[in-house]
Amino acid sequence: MIYDIIIIGGGPAGLTAAVYASRARLSTLLIEKSGCGGQMVITDLLENYPGFNGGVNGFDLSMKLEAQAKEFGTVIAYDEVVDLELEGDIKRIVAVNDAYEAKTVIIAAGANIKKLGIDGEEKFIGNGISFCAVCDAPFFKEKDVLVVGGGDSALQEAVYLAKFAKNVVLAHRRDEFRAAKILQERIQSHPNISVMLGYAPEEIIGTHSIEGVKLKNLKTLQTQILKVQGVFVFIGRRPNTDFIHKMALDEGGYIITDENMKTSVEGVFACGDIRKKLLRQVVTAASDGAQAAFSAQHYLENL
Ligand code: NAP
Repeated sequence: MIYDIIIIGGGPAGLTAAVYASRARLSTLLIEKSGCGGQMVITDLLENYPGFNGGVNGFDLSMKLEAQAKEFGTVIAYDEVVDLELEGDIKRIVAVNDAYEAKTVIIAAGANIKKLGIDGEEKFIGNGISFCAVCDAPFFKEKDVLVVGGGDSALQEAVYLAKFAKNVVLAHRRDEFRAAKILQERIQSHPNISVMLGYAPEEIIGTHSIEGVKLKNLKTLQTQILKVQGVFVFIGRRPNTDFIHKMALDEGGYIITDENMKTSVEGVFACGDIRKKLLRQVVTAASDGAQAAFSAQHYLENL
């Protein structure tokens, strides 16, 4: 079957594109690697998603969005895209289990966690090192943990972790955070969160479990061992563009689009965290998704 639209990725951008596309009565296939929701699924509380005062749980919102896309007729295939053949009017999406065809494609594959790349990290991933406080915080009840990073994720997740852990130390490589001021205020006044500015982790130490982290003071270059049993890493993300070869990307690997989500390839659109933009939030992903679907619809009408 040749679909009108294939959407790659089932996070808020892809699912919103699916809602708009299938509601416009376009045959829509969404290909998702694992489960829908993307990074939103591991967010405990979205405090700034419009219309939900008191916040909304990321998993709940993602379930509703998936159901909404299906209600309008979106078909979801669970498969991992490995290659794109985008020349010509019919686009071919090659995935692990099958190949799929459509007249237009929306890429909404999002971004993924970045690792520290230091000694001991690989050894303890899943056994003391985590990239998701919502998933793993309960394992660190009454323990000492280190959070690495200075963006919104690091500060927000540190506050969440502090509900479980005895002490949370937040280490950031610069003298100032890039996180929103409201999060910085929460950290400063928090009874069991302390901050180490100008420090970077150099090594995770431990035999069978984490015993500590070697931290380097980036001004004095002196190192010290911080005794912790867990490390949570929130140092940003990298775009999931491994399967994309012939498309304009920026220096960080993000897809370059115009304001209507059009990529450098005719009939191919991109939306959400995978594209070059300033603000990566659920609300901007949803907005991108709506625009991408509308642009794809417009493209199809002019084929
Ligand atoms: P981010 O904003 O890119 O911040 C990454 C942080 O990690 C920065 O502080 C960076 O330091 C630090 N870092 C990067 N590489 C490092 C390394 N190798 N070693 C040590 N530190 C390193 O990433 P994010 O916090 O995951 O946020 C991603 C996007 O999601 C942002 O747009 C953010 O606003 C959004 N977000 C929003 C919310 C919300 O509640 N509204 C919650 C979470 C995320 P430097 O500052 O020195 O570069």
